[in-house]
Amino acid sequence: MPKRAIQPTPAFRQAVEDMQAKAGPNTVGLVMRFNEDDSTLRDLWSEGSNAPKHKYNPHAADRPEMWRCDLPGGGSRRANKVGDVRGYHAEEIFIACWPALLRGADLQENQLHCVELALSKSPCYGNSGSSLLRLANAPRYMPVGCSSKLSEFVQSKGRQIEWRIAFLSLNGSDATSYVPIGGFSVDRLMSARERQIADAADRQVRFQSVAAPQMRGHALHLNNRAAVFEMVAPRLNGPARGTLMSMAREEKQAARDLLARVNQRSIALANQARTLSVGVAQQGIALLEGLPNVDVRRWI
Ligand SMILES: [Zn+2]
Repeated sequence: MPKRAIQPTPAFRQAVEDMQAKAGPNTVGLVMRFNEDDSTLRDLWSEGSNAPKHKYNPHAADRPEMWRCDLPGGGSRRANKVGDVRGYHAEEIFIACWPALLRGADLQENQLHCVELALSKSPCYGNSGSSLLRLANAPRYMPVGCSSKLSEFVQSKGRQIEWRIAFLSLNGSDATSYVPIGGFSVDRLMSARERQIADAADRQVRFQSVAAPQMRGHALHLNNRAAVFEMVAPRLNGPARGTLMSMAREEKQAARDLLARVNQRSIALANQARTLSVGVAQQGIALLEGLPNVDVRRWI
């Protein structure tokens, strides 16, 4: 089966633009369409910890019983269908509400030949991804991370279904911006900005270990000492006064230098962490792309 990208109609493009405007670092949006039919277009959203139902998401009555396995000692518990402490990723809502979504589109599963998903963020992967989730009557938990959950879900469905997944932004990369960067000239997965971040992190890898909190604490101490000198100096006469004032200036300068160094290193570390998470996101994409009937790519 040839893999194909989503061929968005104006309505599909508009739906993604609307979703993009509302998505953010903590709210992931998903636009979906069945069988390339715009009348089935709809959007789904992540729900945060203890958050109420998102107004566009299916109602609790359209959600199955769900279980999480996160009690101390590895115990499982019945999750709240809405307002659960773990919340739900958009992909989890999609999988859990599958029967209701088909019903809403007036389709039987055996009539499906194509499912298209456009996500504001590529599906999470690995240990920091969405936690284990079991749906009513399912014998097993779905794995950690939405990439793995989707992969398992796709494989549980007919092979005749073509899955096309697009994402606006790599999970963990430009999470504060959902503007799709890149285009035909850049790497299919990494945007120019993500490349830049990766390169910067490579260059700055020598700042791997840093005692940032202690250094900030020391800078604060230097500043406090400078403040004491400045307070005491006016009460002194003659050269002692000048000496104390210049000591205060030196302490303040030392504090500034120290903070600048700490900040520079912190940025380097943050870049590195981001690069790692971009790498992890790509593993999730690779997992899905490994399936013969799934196409994953950046939304253009
Ligand atoms: Zn997820």
